[in-house]
Amino acid sequence: MLVNEALIAGKGAARGRSAEELEQIREILRSRFEVLNAEYEEALAENHKLRLVEIGDAAGDDQADSGSKTAERDAASSLIRALLDRRTQAEHAMQRLEDGTYGNCEGCAKPIPVERLAVFPSATSCVACKSNRERRAG
Ligand SMILES: [Zn+2]
Repeated sequence: MLVNEALIAGKGAARGRSAEELEQIREILRSRFEVLNAEYEEALAENHKLRLVEIGDAAGDDQADSGSKTAERDAASSLIRALLDRRTQAEHAMQRLEDGTYGNCEGCAKPIPVERLAVFPSATSCVACKSNRERRAG
C-alpha cells in the first residue's frame, strides 16, 4: 500500500520531471559542486600556509601567541570539514540524479518537495526525516 502511494506521489516529482528540469538541476548541482570544490581547495591551501608559518614561528612563541594560533587552526580545519561535507553532499546528489533517485527522500522514499530542492539542491531527505535523524543524533 505504502509503496504504491510512494510510486504515485513519485510521478509528480522525480519521475515526472522533464528532461529540461533535470538538466537544470544537473547544472545547479554541478556549479554548486565546482564552487564548493574551489572553496575547499582554497581552504586547504590556506591551512597549509598557516601550518608552514606556524612551524617557522614555533621557536619564538609565547603562550598567548600559540593560543590564538590554535584557535585559528581549529577554525580553519572546521571550515575544511564543513566544505568537504557539503561537497560530498553535492556529489552524492549528482550521483542520485544519474541513478534516477534524485528528489526522493532517502529515509521514507517520498518525493522531496520541489520548494525544498530549490533552496537545498543537494538535499537527500525530506524535512521530517532530516529532523528525525538530527533528533536521534543529538
Ligand atoms: Zn523522508
